[in-house]
Amino acid sequence: MSDARALARAYLEQQRLVGGDTVVLPGDSGLGARDSGGSRSGALPPSPESRAPSPAAAPSELLPPGLSFDPPSGDLFSTDPVQQAADLGAVARLVADCTRCRLCESRSHTVPGEGPVDARLVVVGEGPGRTEDATGRPFVGQAGELLTKILAAIDLPRELVFICNVVKCRPPENRAPQYDEIAACTPYLFRQLELLAPKVILAMGGTAAQTLLDTKQALGALRNKMHRFRGIPLIVTYHPAALLRNPNWKRPTWDDVRIARRLLDR
Ligand code: SF4
Repeated sequence: MSDARALARAYLEQQRLVGGDTVVLPGDSGLGARDSGGSRSGALPPSPESRAPSPAAAPSELLPPGLSFDPPSGDLFSTDPVQQAADLGAVARLVADCTRCRLCESRSHTVPGEGPVDARLVVVGEGPGRTEDATGRPFVGQAGELLTKILAAIDLPRELVFICNVVKCRPPENRAPQYDEIAACTPYLFRQLELLAPKVILAMGGTAAQTLLDTKQALGALRNKMHRFRGIPLIVTYHPAALLRNPNWKRPTWDDVRIARRLLDR
């Protein structure tokens, strides 16, 4: 039972014991005959159940005057600590202690992501590389510098963007994260997106796109159109690390990020 409900029930019980409102049961003569006082004939002290508010009542209606109830975000009935994480800092602390998959064994630092809580754009990449693992920060090094330039090209300072990855620990030798590692880690990403509720998501690279869209389609088939992740517009484009290897993809990337910019401006 939540604190608020326990408090409400205790308050109701206290009111019953000190003789609050009574409930008259119509046609209950036998009980009325036992009442010699007359004035309360037929009246019974209410049972806790009969005084209980309807199930549809909001929690704040159950509380004594002067007390308020601020419902926490997330799933109230979940026992998953990730779902119960109240803010991005709480998610990052859970990530820091996480041993849900084998990537915890070789990491130097977890890389939960960074950026303002009111970011309108969230960039999602694949996973930390060597420099990210060494620093605990996402998209640093060469690929990070390129991302900063890409964002600047659509007039978006990096500081205004939340940047994170599908997996929060570096896969050894920069290999792609495996299916079970992604499955273990995505609750953190999904909770971050739930808390951030951005206007647009930019999925950079096939892993981010396929994870967020729950598809096996190739990146080429996913880009150049708008998708949605839980209602949030999502654009797919190449990962900056891939652009460093193949500069021919810079032009299509520019096309994609301009779509993201237009969605932000809508
Ligand atoms: S990659 Fe994700 S699930 Fe695996 S240990 Fe790191 S934080 Fe935990």
